[in-house]
Amino acid sequence: MILSFIAGSIIGSFLNVVIFRTPQNLSIISPRSHCPKCKSFIPFYYNIPIVSFIFLGGKCKQCNEKISWQYISVEIITGILFVFSFSKFSLSEAILLNVVFCCLIIISYIDFHYLLIPSIYLYLLIFLLIPYTYITTQSPYQTILGAVAITTYLAICTLIVGIIKRDINILGFGDILLIIFIGGWLGIIHSFISLFLAAIIGILYIIINNHLIKNETIKIPFGTCLSISFTIITILKEYTKLLTF
Ligand SMILES: [Zn+2]
Repeated sequence: MILSFIAGSIIGSFLNVVIFRTPQNLSIISPRSHCPKCKSFIPFYYNIPIVSFIFLGGKCKQCNEKISWQYISVEIITGILFVFSFSKFSLSEAILLNVVFCCLIIISYIDFHYLLIPSIYLYLLIFLLIPYTYITTQSPYQTILGAVAITTYLAICTLIVGIIKRDINILGFGDILLIIFIGGWLGIIHSFISLFLAAIIGILYIIINNHLIKNETIKIPFGTCLSISFTIITILKEYTKLLTF
């Protein structure tokens, strides 16, 4: 349990690098970790996930610049999700689910900040549906049915709203690919629950934003909403009998 958490937080630390550098088209391998403000390199003993953040009081050792809460939140979330998957699933299933969680964490944070989803992670997620049907009890038929059902439903919704609003660009292409993945992974019923939960999260996001900044045109990072709802449904499925169909 503790080992899973440590492994997760170390991976989370790497995800932070990906989240920070991908939108800026920077290499994720070199240069070494450095402070975004003063560019000073972070020695390995200040680069320990979670511990360093607390030890340094959330500030850069060199320039005292505040380190974003994003770093520690990604490390903690990845750690918790690793504990969940390793305690609930077989090793191969857990590893596969962890790769999914990592992709979703990257997607969530980048979509939240930049309202874009790097397509490579979406293609990877859809590709992972193939090993998923091999190592779990879900049949390829259920996977395809889930993906097709939710895509058809979305296409109809988009068409109806598109005709009313005279604007067909309601969802981004990234959102659609993410929904296809969710349909394939969760199957027909759970993916629909996940889609509705994502819509509720999106509405909550608008309410909170309206309250905080009174911005007239709020764009919802729907990729973030979908990732959160997928994670919640995946966890609830394992812990409650309510969602068992
Ligand atoms: Zn610094």
